[in-house]
Amino acid sequence: MNGKLSEKAEEILEKLWMETEEEGNLFTDMEKIPLTPHEPVFQELTDWALIEVKEGQVALRPEGKEEGRKIVRRFRLAELLMMDVFNIRGEAAREKACQFEHLLNEGVDIKVCTLLNHPSTCPHGKPIPPGECCIEAQRSGNLGIVPLTELKPNEEGEIAYIQTEDNKKMQKLMAMGVLPGNRILLKQTFPSYIFSVGYSEFAIDTNMAREIFVRR
Ligand SMILES: [Zn+2]
Ligand SMILES: [Zn+2]
Repeated sequence: MNGKLSEKAEEILEKLWMETEEEGNLFTDMEKIPLTPHEPVFQELTDWALIEVKEGQVALRPEGKEEGRKIVRRFRLAELLMMDVFNIRGEAAREKACQFEHLLNEGVDIKVCTLLNHPSTCPHGKPIPPGECCIEAQRSGNLGIVPLTELKPNEEGEIAYIQTEDNKKMQKLMAMGVLPGNRILLKQTFPSYIFSVGYSEFAIDTNMAREIFVRR
């Protein structure tokens, strides 16, 4: 589509996309969004033919779904940027990500995605819908150094570095043999990350797994 949507419209598409793609609800009660036919944003979304409404329920049209996917992608990239690069945590990270996602229009999202090494999940473990840049990087095998959370079960890598400011954590990881140059094999990702280094197996939580960077 051409032209720019209002922030309000983007937020509604984002919610609807998550309802459709992640909750499996094709139609959502308008009250749940919330959205009413009297608001300008309703007009905006119907003018662009992004949504359809039936008996008080709203669904994404194919164009709306595509748009929603891009918005979710930008939001989750913005979250990673705030939390991993700028080290902003908690509610402040969410707020900043909300503001920042609207600035990450096409082109900028590719730069951020490349800077972050085409991540597949946001800091909360939710999938980031891949962009062209991610598909291209995967095709050319150019994935470089990624957090342990980016590996798939049974994938192996070489530990590149540990990124934590917490000395206790660092010592704990080092005691497990999580040291640069060692091979690491990821065995399981849920409910905790289980990996082996050498002949030993360990379980750690997502936060810790995100601090171990491996070369694929
Ligand atoms: Zn998230
Ligand atoms: Zn990418």
